Amino acid sequence: MERTLIILKPSAVQRALVGKVIDRFQQKGLTIAGIKMMKLDEKILREHYAHLVDRPFFPSLVESMTATPVIVMCLEGRDVVEVVRAMTGATNSRKAVPGTIRGDFGMSGQENIVHASDSPENAIIEINRFFRPEEIFDYKPITFTSIYAPDDLA
Ligand code: UDP
Ligand code: MG
Repeated sequence: MERTLIILKPSAVQRALVGKVIDRFQQKGLTIAGIKMMKLDEKILREHYAHLVDRPFFPSLVESMTATPVIVMCLEGRDVVEVVRAMTGATNSRKAVPGTIRGDFGMSGQENIVHASDSPENAIIEINRFFRPEEIFDYKPITFTSIYAPDDLA
């Protein structure tokens, strides 16, 4: 089953939105395969946001992402990368459609509550960046056959 990497950013931690955001993923039917709190530093952010290191806002992004510890999660489900990106919404929270996490909880481009992997290939890289193998758990919730029909899994 596909997996993706989520970060509940300091904007979620500071604003006490951690539970609400996790609840959305659980209500959707996604499985939590891994979850922990950690403090990010500039080194890991230079890797994680390598596509942004030369942008003028990068120092501000590092400051924002290191302001508090974050919650990192590995979520599992069919097409989970695409599903979670749709749930997350556009990068700029003011442009994110209502009903999405950013659209419902944010007003900022930078302080946008949540990170989500943007492709299955990057998801694998990002999960390995933030989790050790023994921190990811393989199990099937008892609700599985009510979440997926056989043809969803074909
Ligand atoms: N970001 C920002 N200003 C920008 C673009 C991005 O502050 O103009 C921040 C924002 O927090 C965003 C993160 O950098 O979530 C990563 O940017 P990316 O383009 O990968 O957006 P995402 O995949 O998070 O939607
Ligand atoms: Mg991105």
